[in-house]
Amino acid sequence: MGAKNFLISKLQKNYGYILGGLGMVLFFLLTTLSQGYGKDTDNKAVTTWLLIGYTVVIDPGHGGADPGTVGFRGTLEKNISLTVAKRLTYFFQQAGAHVLLTRKSDQDLSDPGLFDFYTVRSQDLSRRVNLVNKYKAQFLLSIHLNHFPDPVEYGAQVFYQTGSGDGKKLAEAIQKELNNYLIDSGRQALAGDFYLCRETKAPAVIIELGFLSNPEEERKLNDPMYQMKAAWAIYAGVVKYLNLLS
Ligand SMILES: [Zn+2]
Repeated sequence: MGAKNFLISKLQKNYGYILGGLGMVLFFLLTTLSQGYGKDTDNKAVTTWLLIGYTVVIDPGHGGADPGTVGFRGTLEKNISLTVAKRLTYFFQQAGAHVLLTRKSDQDLSDPGLFDFYTVRSQDLSRRVNLVNKYKAQFLLSIHLNHFPDPVEYGAQVFYQTGSGDGKKLAEAIQKELNNYLIDSGRQALAGDFYLCRETKAPAVIIELGFLSNPEEERKLNDPMYQMKAAWAIYAGVVKYLNLLS
């Protein structure tokens, strides 16, 4: 056996140990997770599939040529909205929901090659709405980030369509959890007139996660852990709105 072959053989043996070790770690993790951390494993099983049978449309705002608002340090709304939407998708899928994302990458929903801003915008928005109505989704969650000329403004803000009782309840439930998990600005859900919320048959909310015009909040909104908390807060708000925990 040459030095080279000896080395390969030694490496193969070591790989065997490494793989065996990894397998044991994986086995330990799976058995621990499947048993749950507490004694109340029945409840854990129920909450795992809490949203089975539900269809939700998650809408990361903007995309493609439309960056949305731009932060103090240059953060683009379209990128953070997509990242949080993907994390939110994960939570919903873990709960058994059928999730439709209006976009999965940096693009809008209009036909390529269009240049007229108003045509692009109306085609993009109407296709986001159509997705909700076509698949009879139970609700639409549109993810955005806010901007205001005065940089002191901060905090998440949820909007719903004026006159929509379910939209109001959904918005209030999500607003409450966002205030719990993110910076608590004490903001309350607000009504308004929004094409996206008005034209969808299901309750729809526009969720502004925070102000990119506030330098400190912009920094937080770029933090993966803060993004995870934002997604979790939205998910928790929906679960409470549906009254599935009582
Ligand atoms: Zn926006």
